[in-house]
Amino acid sequence: MSAPLPRSLDPAPGELLPGYLLRMAHRLDLKPLDLGRLCGLVTGSTFPARHMVRLDQDRTRHIADVCRLNPAEVHGLTLAGQAPGYTPLRIDYLGRHQSTVTMANDGWVLTAFSRYCPDCLRDTADLPGGPVWDGAWRLPHTFLCERHQRILDWQCPTCHAPAFSNGYRADGRWRPTQLIPAPAQRLHPARCRHRRSTGPNAACGQGLDQPARPPVRPAAAMTHAHQRLAEAATAADHEVASLGQQVSAQCFFNDIRATVAAVRGTWPMAGELLTDIGPVDTITAHIEALRRPHPERTAALGDGRVARTFGHPPADPLAAADLMAITVAILDNPTGHHTLAHLLSDLPSTSTAHIRLRHHAQHCSPAMTAVIRRSVRFPRKAAGPPALFPQPATHRGRLDPDAISTPLPEHWTAPLDELGAPHRQLRRDAAIRLVQMATGCSRRSAAFHLQIPLGSLHSATISIQAWQKEPGNAAAYQKALHRVAEIARHG
Ligand SMILES: [Zn+2]
Ligand SMILES: [Zn+2]
Repeated sequence: MSAPLPRSLDPAPGELLPGYLLRMAHRLDLKPLDLGRLCGLVTGSTFPARHMVRLDQDRTRHIADVCRLNPAEVHGLTLAGQAPGYTPLRIDYLGRHQSTVTMANDGWVLTAFSRYCPDCLRDTADLPGGPVWDGAWRLPHTFLCERHQRILDWQCPTCHAPAFSNGYRADGRWRPTQLIPAPAQRLHPARCRHRRSTGPNAACGQGLDQPARPPVRPAAAMTHAHQRLAEAATAADHEVASLGQQVSAQCFFNDIRATVAAVRGTWPMAGELLTDIGPVDTITAHIEALRRPHPERTAALGDGRVARTFGHPPADPLAAADLMAITVAILDNPTGHHTLAHLLSDLPSTSTAHIRLRHHAQHCSPAMTAVIRRSVRFPRKAAGPPALFPQPATHRGRLDPDAISTPLPEHWTAPLDELGAPHRQLRRDAAIRLVQMATGCSRRSAAFHLQIPLGSLHSATISIQAWQKEPGNAAAYQKALHRVAEIARHG
């Protein structure tokens, strides 16, 4: 049990655990790693990023005791406390249980770095311990500062590493994330903690409160999208609009993810359909980078792992702003399902987005589920014969076509009767197929051979084809036909 610290700090509104600890460490002149140890957040030499997602009761109590806070204040320092409506933070997400480790590595849950507003860092610089890193900056859909009306920054102007990160390796993968990067180094909270080499004082140290370029102002559609996403993320219980219906925040965020997949998978189609959104060059650049072959993709882009993982929102806040403006515009429109139907039916059936959507559809709003089910052509299972197989002449010379009659002799039909198909029609269809197996003739000639009238041939074809398309039936039917042929051969 660690003793309470001699001095503490009040958490600032919206502040997240890493930023809070950074201010506290600076105020007490401690290494963040040592403060993390006192708070029970360090295991061996690792300082896991997952602690910013959610804390268990014992850890919450321990941090509260050490930092002289109450447990509710500690919970408020986690993303789970700050964004109760943001579905990807839930333990059960998209029908599966996810650990906090999985969450800390999933770009839809939180970013492996922190976007930031230099103006906000300057505005809060006089607080005890230094400026506040806003928790919402870690959420992938936070791309602008409403207070300062600017698109957030994300890369250090000096070393170009994404802020509050360990940067990435030469192959484009993120270095392991930590709750606070370079935690053994004492640095002012506004300074870049990216380590360009190993060594005791290797952190970059650039002041991130010093903007390197004039601010980029958001377009009205970006601000609107940002507000919609922020409201839904903080709404634990109340409903939000999506495709003209009131739905839970959970469904809304799943609709967002499905729409992003549809927009990206068919780009530039959405840009052409929604011309009033304005220029969208950043999305084009982002998608061109994603479509480059690996490894050229990671080498050329320079924004690391984000380019390797198709499903995540872009790391660059400006590209994220453009993408979310389009996405929210589609979902805001009560007839947005028409746009979605256009996009979804154009998705290549082998694309990653396609595979994701198949799993995703069931977790979306009813309108989104319906449009996905209607518009996405799911590939048929590659295994087994196609549902409507032609009948090859597998028994030529082994089976006498003149021994086949309709109706089929009663003692031949046991393998067919087990299949659960329309009884009479299946026997007629099987007789036709047995003649084809014996002769290799067409379906029509086989019917003629059996003296089946054309009308009866058509009705057998229609009812049996419908049954054959059900999963597993085609393969079972083929097997049963071979068993019938064996019975026929041996009398
Ligand atoms: Zn700001
Ligand atoms: Zn730097």
